[in-house]
Amino acid sequence: MLLTLSPSKINIYLNCHQQYYFEYLDPEIAKIKKQLKKKRVEMEMGSFIHDSLTLFFKNPAEERNWPKMVEILKQVWQGPRGETYGFKTIEQERDFYNQALKMLKWFVKNENLKPDVFALPVSPPGNSFDDYITIPFGENLDLGGKIDRIDKLANGNLEIVDYKTGKEKDDNLQLLMYVFLAEKIFEKRVEKVKYIYLKSGNCPTITPEAEDKEKAKEKIIDIANQIQAEKDWAPHVSKLCDYCDYIAFCPAKK
Ligand code: SF4
Repeated sequence: MLLTLSPSKINIYLNCHQQYYFEYLDPEIAKIKKQLKKKRVEMEMGSFIHDSLTLFFKNPAEERNWPKMVEILKQVWQGPRGETYGFKTIEQERDFYNQALKMLKWFVKNENLKPDVFALPVSPPGNSFDDYITIPFGENLDLGGKIDRIDKLANGNLEIVDYKTGKEKDDNLQLLMYVFLAEKIFEKRVEKVKYIYLKSGNCPTITPEAEDKEKAKEKIIDIANQIQAEKDWAPHVSKLCDYCDYIAFCPAKK
């Protein structure tokens, strides 16, 4: 059976096989999945920030400044969003709004606002599913994902940028998956790829070499083989269970 792996699917599988089963395979859960999905304020804030940055770069370079960013966040947030979006109180929502402003302020102050933008998500406005791209990657295996921004460097090669509003990661697999996606779709070399951690201001950058790509490819295929052969879907209890939408159905609930 064809399997499509994205960075988030891999994260879920590596965190907990049972959660992966619930999320992508369980036919009973599939019927009620929409009702089970809880709005999480950190995720909502993250998605408003991503949308704001996309819209920001859709403006002409000379109009990209702090007042424009403030205006865009206000439009995107359309607040107060309230409990439908997981915000328990107006104070909590205000706090998250201010956190978003702080991260975007850091961005405007420290990042290059006039890169040669090569590709941006088509949404917003519209549906973010439109931005999900897939490529064939092996026997019965496709890779999928959504790339935040791609810039063109002076030599014609590409640089991929991935915005992060949460915790810092210590592996580059996600970045290398984006390299595979962009090189296949645009038929251009990706020379650099980086995370921009908007909370800390850290921007780890890698220059993907053939050896890095080979190792990443082996790892992805190994994970795909494990998923294809998986029979147990064992739960893995961790602090991430607090963020799992399927905890009520989990065999490890106790
Ligand atoms: S509650 Fe925890 S152990 Fe159970 S499926 Fe979710 S993440 Fe896995």
